[in-house]
Amino acid sequence: MALSAKDINENTRWQDLTDGLQIYEPATSKNFLTGEWRTNTPVLDQEKCRNCLLCVPYCPDSSIPVKNGKRLDFDYDHCKGCGICVKACPFGAISMKEGK
Ligand code: SF4
Ligand code: SF4
Repeated sequence: MALSAKDINENTRWQDLTDGLQIYEPATSKNFLTGEWRTNTPVLDQEKCRNCLLCVPYCPDSSIPVKNGKRLDFDYDHCKGCGICVKACPFGAISMKEGK
C-alpha cells in the first residue's frame, strides 16, 4: 500500500515509496498535503470579505472551505498558493504574502 504524504518523513525508506510518489488508492487526495509545495500564501482580510463566495469555485484545489453558507479561512494543508483566488475576489479581500 502506498504511503500518504503525511506518513512520509526523513525516516521513511526509499523502498516504501512509490515511483514518483504516485498514489494508487482512491479518495486519497485529502491525505496528500499539497500545501507543502506552496511558496506564496493567500491571506484573507475578513474586514473586506463580503462572503460572496465567488472565490470558492475558482480555487483549483478546493482549498476555500464553506460552512453554513459562509467561507472559512483557507485550507493551508492543500492550498498550493497559485494566487487565482486573489484575481477572483472583486473586493480585494485576498492578498498574497511571500512564503508559507
Ligand atoms: S492560492 Fe490557489 S490554491 Fe490557494 S486558495 Fe487561492 S486559488 Fe486555491
Ligand atoms: S471572493 Fe472575496 S469577498 Fe467573495 S467570499 Fe471570496 S474573499 Fe470574500
